[in-house]
Amino acid sequence: MIEDVTGSEPSAYLLDLDGTLYSGGAAIAGAPGTLRRLRERKIPFRLVTNTTSRSRSMLVQRLSGYGFEVSAEEVFTATLAATHLARAAGHSTVAPFILDPALEDMQALELTGGTSGRPAAGCPDAILVGDLGDRWTYALMQEAFEYLMNGADFIALSRDRYWLREGQLALDAGPFVAGLEYASGRVATIAGKPSLVFYRTALESLGTARSDTAMIGDDLWSDVQGAQRAGLQGWLVRTGKYQESALHGSGIDPDRVLDSIAALE
Ligand SMILES: [Mg+2]
Repeated sequence: MIEDVTGSEPSAYLLDLDGTLYSGGAAIAGAPGTLRRLRERKIPFRLVTNTTSRSRSMLVQRLSGYGFEVSAEEVFTATLAATHLARAAGHSTVAPFILDPALEDMQALELTGGTSGRPAAGCPDAILVGDLGDRWTYALMQEAFEYLMNGADFIALSRDRYWLREGQLALDAGPFVAGLEYASGRVATIAGKPSLVFYRTALESLGTARSDTAMIGDDLWSDVQGAQRAGLQGWLVRTGKYQESALHGSGIDPDRVLDSIAALE
């Protein structure tokens, strides 16, 4: 167990969703109260997620169903970050490899092929790869691979290894992104956590200094290590996919480890 309470208390927080605020179809016990307390004390926070199976509005609805009162502006998703990245790079046509519900957050782009439901019209400017779960097929991997070999830009929403699904660790987007990287010899640009640009955008909206802000999540790499590399504090929760053996084998040293988000005073 790693405890470090020597650092100053953060003046703002970035909070992960799945595994941190909720898990397995319910809020983590005490978590809605934690969010309410942050609001009462006027401590700014943002909810930051690599979950790519739902749109932002669906996430807000889901959070509301679990007892969290949040507005859409307080939620940052990897899908929104990837859309922003693609636009900033000047891409107009992109092939999404993302579940249908999240496509509504990509309206700023012209979607073609992939999971867009529209026939592919030549090689897109970029592919956007998220967590497709059971919808991954050989044909979809092959289509993404062909676009990459034809020069499409490679943007991944996350490179997360696994998440906790119905009590079992389940493959996230990372293994599929890594597979496409391996086959194509290309390296994906990561839009969500742990990318610097994702953390920078979230911080800008908070208006706080990096070292004064703590990212709290259950993913060692995207949440804890990613935040630390971006100059924030990286705090780990022992909920969601947390496993003691994974922490000890990772070489990652969280600034603090909480039994759950509810332990946040
Ligand atoms: Mg998580």
